[in-house]
Amino acid sequence: MTNAFYAVRLKVGGVGGLAEIGETAVLNVPKLPDRLLRQVESFFVTVYHEHESEAVVLLFCNPATKEWRIEVPPQEVQGLHVKYDTSRLPDPPAGFQRFGSIHSHAGIKAFHSGTDDSGAAGVQRPLHFRPFPGGS
Ligand SMILES: [Zn+2]
Repeated sequence: MTNAFYAVRLKVGGVGGLAEIGETAVLNVPKLPDRLLRQVESFFVTVYHEHESEAVVLLFCNPATKEWRIEVPPQEVQGLHVKYDTSRLPDPPAGFQRFGSIHSHAGIKAFHSGTDDSGAAGVQRPLHFRPFPGGS
């Protein structure tokens, strides 16, 4: 599987008589700029101080120019929950594609939760962020 951001080779079952090849994943995106990550951190810290809650930002990447942008969707936050409506998001800026999201975990560890796995919160392929100490 290949797209503008990654190339992945996975093992599949049900095909006999072929030599086995290794699984690989190659990410083809630029590094997230420190300036952008600091903006995201500032937003998460502000939301945490005001609501003691998670928050989410969306990531866009322009594969041709290797630029990143973020967008803060309208969202409902409460404790360890954040919800936003993926069907009502504006189109990405010209040349950009949606890449994924970053969300904070309020005061708990950064990990891939059951909600993250299910996509129940509208979050797909998230990066996790814990902006300050306090959780364990
Ligand atoms: Zn998470």
